[in-house]
Amino acid sequence: MKTEVLKASEESIKKAAEIISSGGVVGVPTETVYGLGANALDEDAVGRIFEAKGRPKDNPMIVHISCLEEAEPLVKKIPEKAKLLAEKFWPGPLTIIMEKTDKVPSVTSGNLDTVAIRMPSHEVMRKIIKESGCPIAAPSANLSGSPSPTNAKYVYDDMNGKIPLIIDGGECNVGLESTVITLAGEKPRLLRPGGVTPEELSEVLGEIEIDKAVKAKLEENQKASSPGMKYKHYAPKIKVVIIKADSEKYVEYISEQKENIAALCFEDEAEKISVPCVTYGKSYDSASQAKRLFDALRELDETGAETAFAHSPSEEGVGLAVYNRLLRSAGFEVIEL
Ligand code: AMP
Ligand code: MG
Repeated sequence: MKTEVLKASEESIKKAAEIISSGGVVGVPTETVYGLGANALDEDAVGRIFEAKGRPKDNPMIVHISCLEEAEPLVKKIPEKAKLLAEKFWPGPLTIIMEKTDKVPSVTSGNLDTVAIRMPSHEVMRKIIKESGCPIAAPSANLSGSPSPTNAKYVYDDMNGKIPLIIDGGECNVGLESTVITLAGEKPRLLRPGGVTPEELSEVLGEIEIDKAVKAKLEENQKASSPGMKYKHYAPKIKVVIIKADSEKYVEYISEQKENIAALCFEDEAEKISVPCVTYGKSYDSASQAKRLFDALRELDETGAETAFAHSPSEEGVGLAVYNRLLRSAGFEVIEL
């Protein structure tokens, strides 16, 4: 299959919508990361997403809508708490899990009786949903296990020959996948941190639970509340190790290592480091780290080094999402100095 990359325009959006409404898969831009979009209600179409990504079948999709009414047929009821969250954070980088109706095929929900729903803010994605006339299932547009793509070129690198079309809508604003919260249990529980922070969620909902899997590795026998959390994820080919230390100690540690290493550090540290280094944002600015992290992980592979030592980010606010992704890309390997 030849993969076409088209800049977002009225015409290319129409083409994307035609492919999606006739059961195909398109690479689509969103404000979080690029997605692989298909009709969420069409089992065969969703099956094609799993195939293109090589995604495990029990890892459910996020279903994207362009207005709240589109959620109504998909869920048993929209809980009051979901309405409050939607009012405050939609359109935007928040996914809400609710009890699903039979309209949502089990292939979309990974056989769960719940469905994950998000209303994205990226104008191009919103138009594609409207023109397609269906809710769009869209996981991140990377091969399963790799860092999520934040531009059309990285989607092409992973998906060339697997899908017919990628719409280039520029760089993603947030750079990390959405925050996922479930309202299907007794208490709201954060399953995956993202652009909407736990503090912001608590302002609307009061106290929320934070799933253990956000900051720790699940044991072999533990069930994952969010199936995606149990897989090795976001990993470049290079081995990544996280270093928890202040800037001075981190720089010193790097200088003591043997050959064939690289550093994943903050912009304000780069000049003090003498091994090949890739930066991910400013040390005091979590949003800038979020925006850069996945690109930086891909760039690390180009250094040719064997191991990358990553300076651990702050875990506050959006930093929790940055840390969560970095931890998985490092296979949970952390050295505390
Ligand atoms: P991605 O599509 O790559 O952004 O991943 C979607 C994430 O949402 C994965 O971690 C899934 O496990 C999670 N997810 C989707 N639907 C559900 C659901 N019904 N219950 C729990 N987690 C879900
Ligand atoms: Mg993903």
